[in-house]
This record gives sequence, structure tokens and C-alpha cells, in this order.
Amino acid sequence: MNLTNGLYNFYYHDVSDCEVVPAGFRTRPSRFREEIRFIADNFAVLPFNQAIAEQRRHLQTGTHWQCPTATVTFDDGYRGVLNAAAPVLQEFRVPATVFLNSAYLSGGYVCPVVLASYADRHWARAQIEEAFEEIAPGQSLRNFVRNRLDRTVFEKMNALLGASLHGSELYLTTADLHRLPTDLIQFGNHTYHHLRLSLLARAEQREEIVSNDAALRGTPGYQPLISIPFGGADSFDEDTRALVRELGDGYLILATGSIRHRDQDGLLTVERMGMSDNKPPIRRLIERRLRGLPDRSAVASRFRSLGAGLRWGRLRQPIR
Ligand SMILES: [Zn+2]
Repeated sequence: MNLTNGLYNFYYHDVSDCEVVPAGFRTRPSRFREEIRFIADNFAVLPFNQAIAEQRRHLQTGTHWQCPTATVTFDDGYRGVLNAAAPVLQEFRVPATVFLNSAYLSGGYVCPVVLASYADRHWARAQIEEAFEEIAPGQSLRNFVRNRLDRTVFEKMNALLGASLHGSELYLTTADLHRLPTDLIQFGNHTYHHLRLSLLARAEQREEIVSNDAALRGTPGYQPLISIPFGGADSFDEDTRALVRELGDGYLILATGSIRHRDQDGLLTVERMGMSDNKPPIRRLIERRLRGLPDRSAVASRFRSLGAGLRWGRLRQPIR
């Protein structure tokens, strides 16, 4: 595959066949293995913290990646990272960073989007409308919860539905973190409860970041990097940007995009590509995400240097 040189950040949620986890948050283990094999075969793979530091250096000095480079990250701390993903990462020697929410890791909570998705499938519509009067006709509870996920909705969803999924052991525990291979796996901060930060006042956003950081500090392999929950353009605001600059080493780690990372006012916006069973095969996904970007592939740079040769009169033959 002819890949443009650049930094490709791939991110996963769960790696399992667990049907409680919505398909968009889940990659089946056989597919995961094929994708990691593809990544190991086609990219230089770096630890995430090292890769984004290198990306910042390239943007600051006007230099470019010399080969297609990749990172692998996981959000939300699913148990499949330990059970299914870690053996594959070890087999292909691929490093990864797991962005954790302490509410799931050790707080006994379940992500409200997962709970809502469960209710959409198992609850009668009348029951949902009774519990959530503001839901629009035809709107899924999952969509409703995603858009309004503040602390009140978080607590309400867990009170109503948490018990139905508590036995599912969806998430890593604090003890599990020590069972992951320390030479390959690092951890990062995905905020305490995984709320939509743009709905929160600055002080509450700060608390989400700082309390999760405090809970994770001391975990071997922890890096104080903040990945924004949901990670889309509407999931953070100016307060988030200020907090990330202050507390997160100036990296705004998003869940959308391709390889167009940008340095704006000392803040490096890092794009990632989401992977799941709902996504097209990895080659097609990459082709789609790269569409419209300038080509910096090895082949393209060879033609550029041939072009330079022509200008200096060293090449007499037309390029075929
Ligand atoms: Zn997340």
C-alpha cells in the first residue's frame, strides 16, 4: 500500500465479542489481529507520547516524517485490552497507550452510552420516554445521552441501568493494570467520568481532569496526557483548551480526523482514526481519511528530487 508519510494514530475501545458493548465500540479479536499485523507490516510504530512529541518537533522545525508512522491507543479501559489485545500487541511488538476513566476502572460505574445502547435494545420505548421526558420522538436514548452527558445524566443512567450490566466485567480493574506488559503498554488520562466537557463549567472540567490524574499517578507507565472524551469538535471548548495547555502538556488529543495534526497557539491538536467492527477494512479507511491531503509518500518525494535534478540540468532523460 502506498502510504503518505505522516503520523497515523489508530484508536480502539473494546477488543471482544461481548454483545453488551455496542458494535461501534468493539473490534472482534480476529479482526484486531489482522489490523495490528497490517500496522506492524506497513508502519514504523512508536509509543504514543514519543510520536506526538516528534510530531510537535516536525511542526516547529518545518521538517516531515520520513516514513509512515503509527501509534495504537485504546479509550475507556475495556477489559478486552488485557484479555484479547495485549497478547496480539506482544506478538507483533506493537506499543500502545490506554486512556483510562477512573469511574469505570475502580468506581463501579458503566459508561452511560453503553447503558443507553443496552436500554435501546432491551427497554420498551414507553419506559424510555417515561424516564427521559425530554427525549425527542424517534431519538435513540444513546444519541440523547451522548449529547447531554453531564454529571446528572451520568448518575441517573447508572442508577437506572448500572445494575443490569455490573456483572458483565466490561472494564479493566486497577489490579489488571499491573498485569499488562509494562514494556509495551502506557496509560493516559481520559478524565474521571467521561462527561461531555463542553457542557461543564471550567471548574468542573478541571475537576474531571485533575481527579483522574490523581487517581492514576503512581501507576507504572502513566503519562499525564489528556484524551478528550468523545473527541469531536463539539466535545470541548475554550476552557478545555486552556486546561489542556495548563495540565496536559499542550496536547489536545481528539478522536476524529486523519494525519493533519496542527500546532495552534502552543497547543498541538492530535487527530486519531477510530477503529471498530463498524468501520471499513483498514486499507479503505486510511484511503478515505487521506483523500485530499498533500502526498508526502516515499514515491512522491522521489519524484520531487528528480524534479530538482531536472532544474539543475543533471537529468537529460524524460521521467517515465
Ligand atoms: Zn472515550
